[in-house]
Amino acid sequence: MNLHTPYPYWLLKNGFLCEYPSLRHPLQVDYLVMGGGITGALTAWYLAQAGVGVAVVDRRHIGMGSTCASTALLQYEIDVPMHKLAKFVGEKNAARSYRLCIDAIDKLEQICEKMPLPTGFERKPSVYCASRKADLEDIDLEYAIRQKHDIQVERWDKNDVARAFPHFQSPGALYSPHDGAQVDAYSLTHALLQDALRCGAQVFDKTEITDIQHEKTQVVLRTNHGHSIRAKRLVIASGYESQEYLEQKVTRLHSTYALVSEPIDKTKIWHRDALIWETARPYLYLRTTPDRRVLVGGRDEPFYSPGKRDKLLAKKTALLAQDFDKRFPTLAPLQVDFNWAGTFAETADGLPFIGSVRERPHTVFALGFGGNGIVFSQIAGEIIRDGAVGRKNPDAHIFSFARAGATPQGD
Ligand SMILES: Cc1cc2nc3c(=O)[nH]c(=O)nc-3n(C[C@H](O)[C@H](O)[C@H](O)COP(=O)(O)OP(=O)(O)OC[C@H]3O[C@@H](n4cnc5c(N)ncnc54)[C@H](O)[C@@H]3O)c2cc1C
Repeated sequence: MNLHTPYPYWLLKNGFLCEYPSLRHPLQVDYLVMGGGITGALTAWYLAQAGVGVAVVDRRHIGMGSTCASTALLQYEIDVPMHKLAKFVGEKNAARSYRLCIDAIDKLEQICEKMPLPTGFERKPSVYCASRKADLEDIDLEYAIRQKHDIQVERWDKNDVARAFPHFQSPGALYSPHDGAQVDAYSLTHALLQDALRCGAQVFDKTEITDIQHEKTQVVLRTNHGHSIRAKRLVIASGYESQEYLEQKVTRLHSTYALVSEPIDKTKIWHRDALIWETARPYLYLRTTPDRRVLVGGRDEPFYSPGKRDKLLAKKTALLAQDFDKRFPTLAPLQVDFNWAGTFAETADGLPFIGSVRERPHTVFALGFGGNGIVFSQIAGEIIRDGAVGRKNPDAHIFSFARAGATPQGD
């Protein structure tokens, strides 16, 4: 699958951070993690920290799947607002999902503090803007349910928005002062794997899994180099390419676009350099980078076709820059430095899939889809670690394949 155009910003900025060998011999291991993106890296890190024998393999170079294309906003706010998620999975599970995302960002912060490489982690507030007056009803419903479940959020009216963002045309917003963050997902992936290596994990890239056999007590895999891997457990963390290992259709693929500006000579580019997104679907979103650039993303298209996707890149970049200029006229015209397009998968209810399916014994999937993919990867890492050490994770059922609302509507 073609996951992104060749030059996402993070890849150019960081280059090859660390080197890993390809697997050139047979391997026997307790846990084999298939996929060396942020999900596989967090899972392997948790397993290695718990003393579990783990190896990671990736068909590409490490982090060069969707992870290096990620704009890497860390939000507790799931693409599906809590009051809507409640209709899919019940209010209790919806509220718990939001709480788990808040906790996951706290945990990611703690992990990033310990990492052997820079991770770009920075705490940020998050602003969720009503795109139109008609969306205020949704904003109010969302505010009420988040307050009910003790989430710290402020309801801004249009004057509050104008005070923070003088040229914004938003009639209202939800402002979360503490619970957002941003990161460099590519660098964090390498950092996690370097740390996992120190705890005894093994990491191989340029190694594709070409065959998977589920035996009575183990999983036997074959690589493109002709070697076998015998694992007591397989973790499928192969991102948007995972659907081929599942009978149940769980995702819809989209094309998405992002740009990064030239550095802007200001200590604060806008109000607390908050993460900004909106109620419209597809939504526009903005963040800053530690080197004072602006990142703008969105303008999604509802198809998977790399050729069609990439042909639209120049046009979508111009539209994203216009979107920015309209909202921040004092910073216009935005000087675009980098742009890229990527494939993006979402689920019907906005939640990830973490768990097992009957047809694949001794296997667990870690699929952090949607705009909160990285936060979900953190949750997946913990759930899988708990399974490995024989601890029951009380929240695992929320993300299972069997949950209500798991299948895309209309399929
Ligand atoms: C443009 C864009 C913007 C995004 N913005 C955000 C955001 O702001 N916040 C957020 O949280 N998330 C965001 N996401 C989503 C987030 O980036 C993803 O959820 C995350 O990167 C997925 O990581 P992963 O490790 O699951 O997948 P990947 O990074 O794709 O890693 C999976 C790996 O599995 C490997 N693999 C697949 N099949 C095989 C095989 N057979 N054998 C061996 N290896 C295999 C692939 O080579 C790949 O490297 C964004 C995504 C995109 C594309």
